[in-house]
Amino acid sequence: MRTVYLDNNATTQVAPEVTEAMMPFFNDLWGNPSSMHYFGGQVAKYVEEARAKLAALLGAEPSEIVFTSCGTESDNTAIKGAINAAGRRMRVITTRVEHPAVLSPCRDLQEQGYDIVEIGVNEKGSLDLDELESALEQGPAVVSIMWANNETGVIFPIRKIARMVKESGGVIHTDAVQAVGKIPIDLKKVPVDMLSLSGHKLHAPKGIGALYVRKGTKLKTFLMGGHQEHGRRGGTENVPYIVGLGRAAELAAAHMDEETSRVSKLRDRLEKGLLETCPDSRINGDTEHRLPNTTNISFQYIEGEAVLYHLSDLGVCASSGSACTSGSLEPSHVIRAMGVPFTAAHGSTRFSFSRYNTDEDVDYLLENMPKIVDRLRNLSPFV
Ligand code: PLP
Repeated sequence: MRTVYLDNNATTQVAPEVTEAMMPFFNDLWGNPSSMHYFGGQVAKYVEEARAKLAALLGAEPSEIVFTSCGTESDNTAIKGAINAAGRRMRVITTRVEHPAVLSPCRDLQEQGYDIVEIGVNEKGSLDLDELESALEQGPAVVSIMWANNETGVIFPIRKIARMVKESGGVIHTDAVQAVGKIPIDLKKVPVDMLSLSGHKLHAPKGIGALYVRKGTKLKTFLMGGHQEHGRRGGTENVPYIVGLGRAAELAAAHMDEETSRVSKLRDRLEKGLLETCPDSRINGDTEHRLPNTTNISFQYIEGEAVLYHLSDLGVCASSGSACTSGSLEPSHVIRAMGVPFTAAHGSTRFSFSRYNTDEDVDYLLENMPKIVDRLRNLSPFV
């Protein structure tokens, strides 16, 4: 059976160039970069090269990059580390549509007595900036607002948001796990204090991430131990994976322009075709401010999970809600926050592309999807 992988917001295929770059660090250059001897010490320069490549993708300084184990660690470190470093009790402002990697640490802080504000979105998934403005008026806060949404692909105006937060005297972190490698990011122009990213969303392996920390940002170390990462994150560096992330960042930077246009054409063709051939379907989310690789479509009156099972039988991999919440028949918190009507919310399905998708993938889906929708509608109690 052929596999048509359209679940790249959940994870991406490791690029062969990335695997190739990593191999020497398992087989030959396996020393500890902190060692005093030549054998370990020679590895340190490759870690620094990777740091410089990742910094270049973000428009950052290499010294502002801290390698972590994943996006979740980066998010937790940013939010809790900023709260712990604040020196006074700060409020926390986030949104209702964040990934659990942000919402869970915020709710944990709430249980510890911190004041948490969750800003809402409209039916297009766009952030209510007036609500943010009035939340900021109530005193300085640690703010965590994502750059792009994992379920709908909706991009928030993070430059504007960052300016609002800085003017209010707050600290601004952005979860850019879905944005890095997909859209241009230049942190010289966007005044966020911290940014999270994750390797496995941009063709590096799982188990490596990074946190950008702008010079001068107060952050309490989250993982205490040795002096690695200039004392900002203890633990012996995961050298092969760091090198892999550096290579993935380099590839993303080199191919972004051409891939953005090719991938968005594939996505748009799929979207148009599905809307034409599957009656009572609709796009969830603002289609103007959206990642080039993502579409979230509701096929009304049917369950998204049922769509996924039928697609999976044909070798097509997609998602309903975020990977972390699938398995539950409740519509995702993002779709609910947008107020998508009940009959559409349950049928929401996300297709997310990568540089490895082809026109044939889109053809295959367009050929099969109308039959699946038809079959499920015939069984639906709502039709
Ligand atoms: N933030 C967002 C927006 C995500 O989409 C994800 C993963 O899906 C994460 C954070 C967590 O990243 P990781 O899987 O590397 O922990």
